[in-house]
Amino acid sequence: MNVILLGPPGAGKGTQAKILEDKLGYKQLSTGDMLRSAIVAGSDIGVKAKAIMDRGDLVSDDVIIGIVSERLDKPDVIKGVVFDGFPRTPAQADALDKMLASKGQKLNAVIEMKVDDEALVSRIVGRYSCATCGQGYHDELAKPKVAGVCDVCSGTVFNRRPDDNEKTVRDRLGVYNRQTAPLVAYYHRKGNLHVIDGMAEIAKVTSAMTSILNQVKG
Ligand code: ADP
Ligand code: ADP
Ligand code: ZN
Repeated sequence: MNVILLGPPGAGKGTQAKILEDKLGYKQLSTGDMLRSAIVAGSDIGVKAKAIMDRGDLVSDDVIIGIVSERLDKPDVIKGVVFDGFPRTPAQADALDKMLASKGQKLNAVIEMKVDDEALVSRIVGRYSCATCGQGYHDELAKPKVAGVCDVCSGTVFNRRPDDNEKTVRDRLGVYNRQTAPLVAYYHRKGNLHVIDGMAEIAKVTSAMTSILNQVKG
């Protein structure tokens, strides 16, 4: 099962991809997380990507396609992949079709998550995550059960992303509308687009996704 979660920054892609990975055993493939790991590791890709990400632009298609292609060669993706934040351009979508075809696989579903712009901005500005296990939280919308303690690993150190500020988020929404939104029509034409209400609460969004996945599994 290969599924793309398509949506603007803050739509809930990472939140849902992680839940689907835990529930169904598909691997979350987040190009944003991979780039942030490359920055922490200080690799060439990380060094080049940092300034681009901080201003909210897209990293080049070549770099992104390279890291995804390497990731899809690992054996743990055999059950399926939930693509989170990839593809973001028509060139990336095209490359993904070719990568999957070369492995005798296909894309089973593309789920577009619709969320109002103002909700996106407040989701992003309040977003933070556990520094130890990566679990995502929000200042108001998704607090840990005990303040300051991660529900998953009991860690007490949390991170905020440098690009999660109001100015950069508005720029990233512009980038999404110009460069990524055309993929909606692309997948609609291919017949595998499903649209869901990303404004619903987290558990409701998960059940909408699960029923789409059951439907495409046949
Ligand atoms: P994306 O990966 O699409 O950028 P995230 O999954 O990181 O988005 O979600 C952005 C923020 O919004 C996070 O702080 C998350 O806890 C919160 N969030 C995610 N889904 C919902 C939802 N359905 N309702 C309310 N808040 C949500
Ligand atoms: P969000 O889900 O909040 O939009 P991501 O973590 O997916 O954020 O991406 C953060 C940044 O990493 C993007 O603004 C962009 O600079 C870079 N990035 C991530 N995925 C891609 C991609 N597929 N193509 C180009 N740049 C990407
Ligand atoms: Zn944790």
